[in-house]
Amino acid sequence: MRERTDLVELASEVTKVKRSGRSVMAVCPFHQEKTPSLSIDPARGLYHCFGCGKSGDVFRWVQELHGLDFHDAVEMLARRAGIALTEAPGAEQRRGRREELIRAVEAAVAFYHERLKSGKDAGPARSYLRGRGYDADVVDRFLLGYSPAGWDALTRYLEKAGFGTKTLTTAGLSTTTSKGRLIDRFRGRAMFPIYDLRGDAVGFGARQLEGEPPKYLNSPETPVYHKSRLLYGLNWAKSDIVRRGEAVVVEGYTDVIAFHLAGMPVAVATCGTALGDEHFDLLRRFTERVILAFDADEAGAGAALRGFERSVPGDLDLRVAALPEGRDPADLVDAGELEALAKALSNSVPLLQFRLEQELGGFDLSEAEARGRAVKAAAKVVARHPDSLARHEYAVMLSRRTGVELDLIEAAVAREVRAGRDSAVRSEQRAPRRVPGEVKAERDLLRLLLANDPGVRRLDLVPDLFTDPDYREAFELIAPVVADLSPDATPDLGSVISGDDSPVAALLAELALTDDHKPAPALELVNRIEIGAIERRIEARRREQAGVDPEDRAYSDRLTGEIQALEKQRRRLRSQE
Ligand SMILES: [Zn+2]
Repeated sequence: MRERTDLVELASEVTKVKRSGRSVMAVCPFHQEKTPSLSIDPARGLYHCFGCGKSGDVFRWVQELHGLDFHDAVEMLARRAGIALTEAPGAEQRRGRREELIRAVEAAVAFYHERLKSGKDAGPARSYLRGRGYDADVVDRFLLGYSPAGWDALTRYLEKAGFGTKTLTTAGLSTTTSKGRLIDRFRGRAMFPIYDLRGDAVGFGARQLEGEPPKYLNSPETPVYHKSRLLYGLNWAKSDIVRRGEAVVVEGYTDVIAFHLAGMPVAVATCGTALGDEHFDLLRRFTERVILAFDADEAGAGAALRGFERSVPGDLDLRVAALPEGRDPADLVDAGELEALAKALSNSVPLLQFRLEQELGGFDLSEAEARGRAVKAAAKVVARHPDSLARHEYAVMLSRRTGVELDLIEAAVAREVRAGRDSAVRSEQRAPRRVPGEVKAERDLLRLLLANDPGVRRLDLVPDLFTDPDYREAFELIAPVVADLSPDATPDLGSVISGDDSPVAALLAELALTDDHKPAPALELVNRIEIGAIERRIEARRREQAGVDPEDRAYSDRLTGEIQALEKQRRRLRSQE
């Protein structure tokens, strides 16, 4: 049906479309503009707006424009194209698929767990977990594991157990190189299995031990693993959350376990994504009181909390437990400071109050001028609360704290409420993705991959090459498609991202339609990325060396040797450029 629906024709029904040569530009119907910044690729049936960032295929277009879900969009386009839809794939079949994926993930949980306990190669993982204070009990309770560092130990094991390639890649356990070689997704990492609310294993969080960043690598989105709707630990914590009448949101898997060790099993963590609306929907089923227990490190807390300012969920009692500076729950439990942790929880304050104190903390309230600026900054925060009564309460509090008259503060808040309404419309229009210099090579490499560039075809690229998690996930989506392609074809991106509204799908569409400069040859890009990785490794060794006890010559010499070997590798790569 995608083939039978012309995206350009569809677009021209609602907006101005201009053809110039191969490319088609349109005035974007998703944001206010006069000059066209929406680019359409008719051959691939993709669009991307360089103004507001919306992108996708025909299905996404219809969904977005008419506010439909995927199923309804398919039906609408079918009617348009005059196609009678056959029975939608049965629910029974989908259920079977789900069970098969969960069986595969659970087999992987058992494999990694066994490997951790008895593998000769699992020493670093065991000492990392021991260092966190985990004994055999904890390892068993949370089914922690170790993924071997080789290329395909798990993949071969699961294949032998009868799982097919499709299941392994769909479950996010295996991934393919750009030449179609099937390899393990997780290698040389400590493994934290992630369960859904029903207690089915659906994915993993994997912590780096010695190898390459990222520090944490998570399962990709799969039919059973939706990171925006998963909270690590909720399957274990839910009944205690109901009993205690509160849930605690922490930053990492080890923090969740720390709360268990401390005898307060009410903590949950997001799995590689920021806390969002759907997470709150999940928590709301069990409690109204949600305490955020993040590292009180000022910058950290600020960044983590800024996200909620635009929409504080009005029906939730959202609070912040300020932990001692620079320490997370895992640190506290590790150091045996359980009281400090319990105290931070019982002293939690409403999110807004916390944010206000943060704002006011930056001003010297004894100076008249600073007071004025403090009130303006604080009023901005208050204005974001959806409830006018609550806004009034906070205005009273602000007046008491600053000594500024209540009337003046109420007026300042009202001004910010009005300004907020105007800017909410504007901030919907996202600026195009900004790419830092070092990630440019990864971006260009993806563009070459999407163009089925002959230079890329000669290389066997692995996902680990990509340090940006979105780029890595994008690579994993298209690598299997590219592997099967004949030299003169381009990948059918529409079939990869069909109806998908994830940031990665949008990124792929954007990259396919970007035409701002010609990427460097593939080999050069790969070298550039590898040089970057080597430089990070050299940097890490240097930092480690700086902290080594001067008496420990052997250790310091070993690091020097490693640095020299890495520098040699870097010279070799540079000479190839
Ligand atoms: Zn737009």
